[in-house]
Amino acid sequence: LTFLGIESSCDDTAAAVVRHVPGGRAEILSSVVDGQTALHAPFGGVVPEIAARAHAERLDHCVEAALAGAGLTLADLDGVAVTAGPGLIGGVLSGVMCAKGIAAATGLPLVGVNHLAGHALTPRLTDGLEFPYLMLLVSGGHCQLLIARGAEDFTRLGGSIDDAPGEAFDKTAKLLGLRQPGGPEVEAEARQGDPRRFAFPRPLLDRPGCDMSFSGLKTAVLRARDGLIAAQGGLLRQDRADLCAGFQEAVAAVLAEKTRRALAVYSADAPVAPAFAVAGGVAANSRIREALETVCAGAGVRFLAPPLRLCTDNAAMIAWAGIERFRLGLRDGMDLAARPRWPLDQTSAPLLGFGK
Ligand code: ATP
Ligand code: FE
Repeated sequence: LTFLGIESSCDDTAAAVVRHVPGGRAEILSSVVDGQTALHAPFGGVVPEIAARAHAERLDHCVEAALAGAGLTLADLDGVAVTAGPGLIGGVLSGVMCAKGIAAATGLPLVGVNHLAGHALTPRLTDGLEFPYLMLLVSGGHCQLLIARGAEDFTRLGGSIDDAPGEAFDKTAKLLGLRQPGGPEVEAEARQGDPRRFAFPRPLLDRPGCDMSFSGLKTAVLRARDGLIAAQGGLLRQDRADLCAGFQEAVAAVLAEKTRRALAVYSADAPVAPAFAVAGGVAANSRIREALETVCAGAGVRFLAPPLRLCTDNAAMIAWAGIERFRLGLRDGMDLAARPRWPLDQTSAPLLGFGK
């Protein structure tokens, strides 16, 4: 099966071609990502209207580039998969329209994909991981612990009740006068810092369950920063490094402990070779990766982290999720809707079953 994938739910316009030979591994034939960071930079955040317009302008070119990169034409494809949500509705609509246009013109099957399922199924694309596995999705917009039992079967064990960790990294960077995106900047500063100097809170660790909270952490950084400025008139280099190290350590500790608890739930009926995978932009953080890997080692669970270009938004994961749904006999009609919100543990968009 060879699928075209289309992704436009946030600020990356992306198209990719993925091939899967039954019984074999999946192969990414091409993956094009046209980021919009520069477009939104003057506004300090993604502007939905600008994003939607940019997606509409760039999608055709991305699809052409993905096909050319794979050395294929539309006639070589078996289907078109597209992110149908969740995300910024204007962008999702642009992608869904593009995919419907291709499906209508070629007669190819159309498969709507949940963007989060794309992230959550990536370890199957990269490593052929078998169900069930535990997944931590940590990005700029999401934070959830999920048991993946099937391409359409996810159980959410918990997640952030407020900010996503990436958002907390970005806001903390802003507070300390560092550049955006803040994650890599904070990590670089933290490398020079002492994580024990500031005792930042570990929110919700005192409560049972797998829910997390990160907005208070950023407020704690703000207070510590203002305290230092009031006491000494400004921030020293070392202060900034120590604040970053303390913040990063708190995020890592919360993610690690909640993952440990989720592993206990998952392990109750885990398979012979239990596995845990992390995905999303924050998975790039080496301290966080290390903390999660330690938890897995302690529990005797295999640890997987897809390469970074497949952790952040891309269309290869959408093409792959489309192939997975198609293999379950699922496809969508021209009534496929774009959905701004679409929790992963709820049943999918309207489906037409076939060939089951
Ligand atoms: P979503 O995928 O949920 O729609 P998004 O597209 O903003 O949101 P990603 O592209 O997966 O998310 O990740 C971007 C986020 O990852 C940013 O918040 C960024 O600061 C964070 N990030 C990137 N590198 C690091 C790092 N080394 N340490 C911590 N955070 C990082
Ligand atoms: Fe994403």
